[in-house]
Amino acid sequence: MAAASPFGLTGRTALVTGANTGIGQGIALALAEAGATVIAAGRSDMGETQALITEAGGAGHALKVDLQQQGIAPRVIDQANDLAGPLDILINNAGIIRRADALDFSESDWDEVMNVNLKATFFLAQAFAKSAVDAGRTGRIVNIASLLAFQGGIRVASYTASKSGLAGLTKLLACEWAAKGINVNAIAPGYIESNNTQALRADPDRNDAILARIPAGRWGRPSDIGGAAVFLASDAAAYVNGAVIPVDGGWLAR
Ligand code: NAP
Repeated sequence: MAAASPFGLTGRTALVTGANTGIGQGIALALAEAGATVIAAGRSDMGETQALITEAGGAGHALKVDLQQQGIAPRVIDQANDLAGPLDILINNAGIIRRADALDFSESDWDEVMNVNLKATFFLAQAFAKSAVDAGRTGRIVNIASLLAFQGGIRVASYTASKSGLAGLTKLLACEWAAKGINVNAIAPGYIESNNTQALRADPDRNDAILARIPAGRWGRPSDIGGAAVFLASDAAAYVNGAVIPVDGGWLAR
């Protein structure tokens, strides 16, 4: 009999936040295709994602959660563990962006972005790691960062701060938890077709400028991020800790 692939996720359970659309949906589908049971979590209906998972022959569940809610993280992890757990994999994907010149940037646009992109991500990771360590289990955390963990960008002050913070947090958690068997890593997606980049793609000047710099010559698709997430969640990445991996069609190499 052939040995099981180290890239396979059969028998694992994954929680993916913001899985109804975009990159989260692409990751949820890729994990399910690799054999994981996927809990698609978010504030919107997960019907489309669940249908895609079922179509691919996978197993999925939905969990309603608004990550702006104070103190929500331990409840999310408990509910996910009850639904289809114990959890093996946490994908911190949910994220928002607000655009305004730094001179005009509002406090609410700062707080809302920080709450979802950084605060909820940290406390979900903490609750996930606590439940895994308490149960004597190992785990995988994959945070979805951004090229703006490496670059400044323009007109997205809270987004850049949150994603740069997320890269640092990924490394800190990797250092604290690697020896406990919890691998923490991040993916930095390039320019991906999703709701998040709708405004950029609709602006012909920005669209052309972005495309001109991408060596791969196209916008990324949510499915492009799925493969990296499967790798980081799998046994093949057992010795990968604290990495922030760009999946960007070569943007940063330029
Ligand atoms: P998207 O289509 O806008 O998806 C964002 C997801 O986050 C949606 O599922 C959204 O749910 C969810 N979300 C937002 N606020 C939430 C809250 N309070 N509670 C629960 N869920 C919430 O954008 P995307 O491009 O797929 O983004 C996914 C991740 O990739 C984000 O972290 C983003 O920063 C990151 N990223 C994207 C790009 C890109 O080029 N697209 C590049 C780098 C990094 P709703 O649909 O209900 O709003």
